[in-house]
Order: sequence, then C-alpha cells, then structure tokens
Amino acid sequence: MEIKEIEDLIKAVSKFPGLGPKSAKRIILKLINNKNEIMKPTINALLDVYKNISRCNYCGVLKSSKDECNGFDNCQNLQKKFSKICVVENISDQWSIEGSNIFSGYFHILGGTISGTVDKNQRLIIESLVERVKKQNIDEVIVATSATVEGQTTAYYIEETLKNLNVKISKLAQGLPVGGEIESLDDGTLFSAFKNRTEL
Ligand SMILES: [Zn+2]
Repeated sequence: MEIKEIEDLIKAVSKFPGLGPKSAKRIILKLINNKNEIMKPTINALLDVYKNISRCNYCGVLKSSKDECNGFDNCQNLQKKFSKICVVENISDQWSIEGSNIFSGYFHILGGTISGTVDKNQRLIIESLVERVKKQNIDEVIVATSATVEGQTTAYYIEETLKNLNVKISKLAQGLPVGGEIESLDDGTLFSAFKNRTEL
C-alpha cells in the first residue's frame, strides 16, 4: 500500500548522507509514532535552520541571521585576536578541526575545491581570504585542504595567490593519507598533520 505523503518523505530522507530507503523508513516511522515528542521539535528546528542559517560570504562559516558572523568571532566581530587562519574546503572540515582542539585561530571555508564547489550557487571565496590576511594582521595561513588531487591543486592555487603578501603559508604534513579528506581523519592523525605542518 502506497501512501503518497510517506513515499515523498522517504524519497527526501533517503538523500541524506549515509541513509538509504531502509533507514529512511525507520526514521520516518519513528517520527510518525512520536509526533509530539520527536516530529514536532524536529520540524521546528528544521524550519529555524532553513530560515536563519546561511554561509557568511566573506569567511564561509555557517552563521545565524540573528547574529553577526560571530560563530566564534570568525570574521566581523573580532574580539578575539588570532594571528592564524586555517583554510579548509568545507564546513565539515572546520568541524573536525574544531572538535579536535588542535587549532585556535580563524577559519576560512572555501566551499569546495577549485575543480568543484559543494554549493553550486557559490564561488570559492578566495578574494576575501587575501583581504583578511591583509586586514586582520595574520602571520600564518595554514592550508588544510584534502590530500586529493583537487585539494592539492587548490592548495597550490592559494599559495600562488598569497605569495606576494607578507605572510607565512604552511600546509598540513605528509602524515595525511593520500586521498585523505580532512573530515575523515582521526584526531591523532590530524594532530600530527598540524604539528608537523610545512612552510611553503
Ligand atoms: Zn564571516
């Protein structure tokens, strides 16, 4: 028996990363069986995120429209003065690095690599990186792109873009497995990659 509303929801939820139709069905049943306890708060939270959350088009972090781009003082509200910027491809990379507590500084989220952006409507934000380095008194840019061909090409491009500025540019150490994406690294690997980063 097909119920259109449910089929539509299964189709939508099956697109989530790591979920297929089977787990989508389990999630949806759970929601239906717990309308007030789970479904309602989920809908409200989703709506809030839909309405309020977007990427800062200057530094790339996610922000709520209720706040300045603060997250943690990343680009506008500079109460904390850091001297380093860590450049990553995606927000998931930023989250991994934050979660491992190995870096304190600003982030700059490119939004993909030069061969492919995650969000089709968005260009890589590289001009603003140059501006940030100049304006925010940055002494080191740590390029933490993936150990993939695209990631390394992007790193090279950033290096070329920044090389005439008075700033140290470094890259994560070779400890990164080839093809390794930042978000999939364990904290130990990430830690040694940061610690042993090399100047370009
Ligand atoms: Zn920002």
